[in-house]
Amino acid sequence: AKILWNDQIVSEQEVKIGYEDRGYQFGDGIYEVIKIYNGDVFTATEHIDRLYASADKIQLVIPYTKDVLHKMIHELIETNEVQNGQIYLQVTRGTTPRQHNFPIPAVESVLTAYTKETTRPLDQLENGVKACFVEDIRWLRCDIKSLNLLGNVLAKQEAISKDCYEAILHRGETITEGSSSNMYGIKDGVLYTHPVSNLILNGITRHVILDCCKEVGLPVVEEAFTKQQALEMDEFIMSSTNAEVMPVISINGQAIGNAKRGEWTEKIQQAFEKKIPTSYKG
Ligand code: PLP
Repeated sequence: AKILWNDQIVSEQEVKIGYEDRGYQFGDGIYEVIKIYNGDVFTATEHIDRLYASADKIQLVIPYTKDVLHKMIHELIETNEVQNGQIYLQVTRGTTPRQHNFPIPAVESVLTAYTKETTRPLDQLENGVKACFVEDIRWLRCDIKSLNLLGNVLAKQEAISKDCYEAILHRGETITEGSSSNMYGIKDGVLYTHPVSNLILNGITRHVILDCCKEVGLPVVEEAFTKQQALEMDEFIMSSTNAEVMPVISINGQAIGNAKRGEWTEKIQQAFEKKIPTSYKG
């Protein structure tokens, strides 16, 4: 498969990344993961907008317009003939002799994007997954989709080592989000989720889910909840571009609700499915 390298679509062997690339040395860059359904990119505008917003927040200049980036992404998908899968796209602050401060003079950022064929996690979407609490030790700018993911990596690894699918992060008693997902609890017919702030990534799937809640008549309260409240929820959900609307059926080995996908969760999933592109419309 071909790779998008800056503004060129090239073979894998042609891509050259410097060993002093600031993404490699400092995690100094940003990224997006975008889902491809039936040859079309899902919520592409939202993802590209968030990429540029992340870039702004770290004063990184992406040397292409959003329109050009949209076109390049579509060209990559068409070239690789991906029907169902994902795009990974990252931009780093470029390659210069190692120093912490930004390069002087500034250098061009380095963009790489590639596609991968994947299938939807249908079995888990129906049967749910297990999760566990992990202390959120990340920095205070979790709103930036930064390449610095060590806190997220360690949290996910802890979850996997406990035979869980995802880590539910908490700062003190307060649930923030997952290691690579957003978190929601449903109690007495109301959906609760952490408000958009510096402590969570403003998930694109989160937006889609809040729209779905409106459509199915489930009231939403964007307020943080505690670990104890999480355990007492009737239903629990995590969401991400890849995991979609994923039921969480147990936390720390304790059943949530009746340890099955809940009714509201299923309704949200159905509303979500209706938004999935059925074909590429160009
Ligand atoms: N929170 C974190 C920390 C993430 O890494 C992600 C995505 O991987 C999400 C939330 C979900 O965001 P999205 O729905 O845009 O994929």
